[in-house]
Amino acid sequence: MDSYDLVIIGAGPGGYVAAIRAAQLGLKVACIEKDATLGGTCLNVGCIPSKALLESSEKYEEAMGHLKAHGVLVGEVGLDLPVMLGRKDKIVKQLTSGVAMLFRKNKVAELHGFGRFTGEQEGEAKVIEIVDGEGKVSQRVAAKHVLIATGSKVATIPGVELDYDKVGTSTEALAWTEVPKHLVVIGAGVIGLELGSVWSRLGAKVTVLEYMPKMLPSMDPEVGRTAEKLFKRQGLDLRFGVKVTSAKVGGPEGAQVSYEDGEGKAQTLDCDRVLVAVGRRPMTDGLQLDTIGLATNQRGFIEVDEHYATKVAGVWAVGDVIPGPMLAHLAEHEGVAAVETIAGQPGHVNYEAVPNVIYTHPEIASLGKTPAELDEAGVPYRVGKFPLTANGRAKALNATDGFVKIIAHAETDRILGASIIGARAGDLIAEIAVAVEFSASSEDLGRSIHAHPTLAETVKEAALGALGRSINF
Ligand code: FAD
Ligand code: NAD
Repeated sequence: MDSYDLVIIGAGPGGYVAAIRAAQLGLKVACIEKDATLGGTCLNVGCIPSKALLESSEKYEEAMGHLKAHGVLVGEVGLDLPVMLGRKDKIVKQLTSGVAMLFRKNKVAELHGFGRFTGEQEGEAKVIEIVDGEGKVSQRVAAKHVLIATGSKVATIPGVELDYDKVGTSTEALAWTEVPKHLVVIGAGVIGLELGSVWSRLGAKVTVLEYMPKMLPSMDPEVGRTAEKLFKRQGLDLRFGVKVTSAKVGGPEGAQVSYEDGEGKAQTLDCDRVLVAVGRRPMTDGLQLDTIGLATNQRGFIEVDEHYATKVAGVWAVGDVIPGPMLAHLAEHEGVAAVETIAGQPGHVNYEAVPNVIYTHPEIASLGKTPAELDEAGVPYRVGKFPLTANGRAKALNATDGFVKIIAHAETDRILGASIIGARAGDLIAEIAVAVEFSASSEDLGRSIHAHPTLAETVKEAALGALGRSINF
């Protein structure tokens, strides 16, 4: 039986990045993955394919009309969906095989199959077995440390009958070979908005049914209101405060969704596709955690301490499988911190500086505390806001919707949070993440020279705004 310092179960962003970092730190590492390719949800059926389709569909929409404002006239615009899907698949393939190459480069052993605990020990080490596609144990390995990075799986709700075709999840919605005529999306969260936007841009009528009474309730309310206005303008039919009671194959168009509207009246929608996007759940199926005396919490997550250690010595967990936001970049940083701790270094993640981005048009990005959270904690703060309409580069881009908002402590001026809705918000928030990481003040940001003319100047101006000193607004 091969022995390792560290065996990682799951090769998503949490697992594969941890494996590479652990190898850099001199540990002998193996990473077990049940799927044929590495990269997890993010690279295979998540972040990457969705962004590929978001970019392509945005280009299509631009060509359909938005280029006119630039004085660019195009002839008849057509959609070659197989090419668009093929491009997405190619990007996924390049990136997933890139992870395999990185494993070879860093001497991480890539083990394919389903990893599970056995409860057996080999001296100090835990024995993990790997099960092949036919259910047979193909290999057993001994691990001084085990990192669980098994990620998450799609959640659903009672009454929804997934057939993974007409009534599907994000995985199917990334691969439909025809543009739906009418797509009903259940859930106006990140996936609902991103993939709803993709298919709406490509020509589908999109109705989004959301249980909560308003848009993006955990964000700054002004962001939610602006996003709702912009998405409605783009043609998304957003319905809030509704209770979906069933979704199934059938009816004249292929699928039917029933719900109770805000007044409690029963409604039914006929459509040809349904996307169920009501969240994700931690994935611990088949891990045999009980054999090592580990249990999940009531919501199915594996609890860890601030160093990502579970309550079983030598067993660690990171990413979507532990409580907290389900984000690829967070999984990566948790993976790095966990293995640095295992290697005797001070691994740490700053949860005040985790950017959250929705890649719609415009993009929506947030980080740190919202005004409501600070009000509740009794923390005094100032807000600086700068609209994209007042930025020269946004005008040149013809992308003037949105604003940047920076929240700074009223006494110390330390940056506590930010919200951005606008073009490339996901790139702009990186600067604020760095500022928060370095405990910067809005004065620090406002005095840093930003190239002109750039969208990044909106961040500087919002920081100056928190000091009552915006120049261009
Ligand atoms: P995962 O990526 O889920 O990886 C876990 C891996 O473990 C999988 O490969 C799985 O096959 C494997 N595994 C599970 N159990 C076993 C076992 N017993 N043995 C062997 N292998 C096992 N996040 C962002 O930050 N930005 C985005 O733009 C973004 N877009 C998304 C779009 C979609 C459509 C979806 C669904 C998600 C998106 N996410 C995004 C979320 C992101 O994908 C996850 O937060 C991230 O992948 C979590 O990483 P992870 O390593 O914890 O888990
Ligand atoms: P989500 O939690 O973002 O949104 C789910 C939405 O469904 C919520 O608005 C919720 O109120 C709603 N909902 C729940 N039950 C409902 C019901 N019965 N009827 C109607 N609406 C209901 O989850 P998601 O969009 O499925 O995404 C899953 C995870 O993947 C998220 O944790 C997200 O962080 C991650 N993700 C991230 C990105 C990104 O970072 N850009 C992109 C996609 C996915």
